[in-house]
Amino acid sequence: MTLLPTTISGSLPKPRWLASPERLWAPWLLEGEALAEGQRDAVRVALREQEEAGIDIVTDGEQTRQHFVTSFIEGLEGVDFENRATIKIRQRYEASVPRVVGPVSLPAPVFGEDARFLVSETSQPVKYQLPGPMTMADTLADEHYGDREGLAMAFAEILNLEAQALVAAGVRVIQFDEPAFNVYMDDVKAWGIRALELAARDLECTIAVHICYGYGIEANILWKRGLGSEWRQYEETFPALADSTIDQVSLEVANSRVPTELLGLLAGKDLMVGVIDVATDDVETPEQVAAVIRATMEYVPLENLIPSTNCGLVPLSRTVARAKLRALGAGAALVRAELGM
Ligand code: ZN
Repeated sequence: MTLLPTTISGSLPKPRWLASPERLWAPWLLEGEALAEGQRDAVRVALREQEEAGIDIVTDGEQTRQHFVTSFIEGLEGVDFENRATIKIRQRYEASVPRVVGPVSLPAPVFGEDARFLVSETSQPVKYQLPGPMTMADTLADEHYGDREGLAMAFAEILNLEAQALVAAGVRVIQFDEPAFNVYMDDVKAWGIRALELAARDLECTIAVHICYGYGIEANILWKRGLGSEWRQYEETFPALADSTIDQVSLEVANSRVPTELLGLLAGKDLMVGVIDVATDDVETPEQVAAVIRATMEYVPLENLIPSTNCGLVPLSRTVARAKLRALGAGAALVRAELGM
């Protein structure tokens, strides 16, 4: 593997023939077989754009899912999608969500087929994203388990089954998305990391966790404004993650107020460092990307550093997202050239 291998945290914008552009959770514009074919074509485009930009560990750009959590939960039993409830997500915004009405189970892998297709369409290592157990429990109205830890542990068992299917399909990195890890710090330490380790148990692949400050949407921008001049949420959870079985941690650095020295708390782990800001349409220059990489090299050994995006690119325009991908690839190449690699 090359040093400073690049990747993205997961999502890319969808083509406008597949879903309404520049919208989170945009509804599909196709249906039935046309939708399935459209999604496969969109995955091919997403792969080519990553490859051309010099992204080393590629994803499907989440072209087959509308939402990073509920598109997985749709495949489970024990969840009622018809009669929704309104809850507050991560103490920030209200959303209409499905209800847990009985024991949750996974009748069949949700993304196994998608993952096989993805792997067959590229020669590069593939990463696949799944929602983390704590974030799943936080995105539903629970009317059965009565405690979030119990529900999260049930989800962890299901995620482990799903992940086994992804590994069998040829996926090399499985990333669990846990934005909730920046909100419920006590729960993370009490059971969140344990749930994550349960989801990751005995998998023959690299395991990553993505912890971020969210998409560049209004509710998140307002929340970040209230977090003060230094964001130290990571300081509480990183020591516990450093002691965990998780291999890689994906976190936000570009334009964030996370003190860079906090990265030192994750000694021994691979760090997917966000060097691309997803909350602005301003496209980074390769020099700016290189500067963030160099700054993190003070705290992270070179062989543990994976330049990435802060979060998903899905709400951006395709033009901006493509330019940001290229800046990421070019910025990492600049640093590699400086180091004589
Ligand atoms: Zn994120």
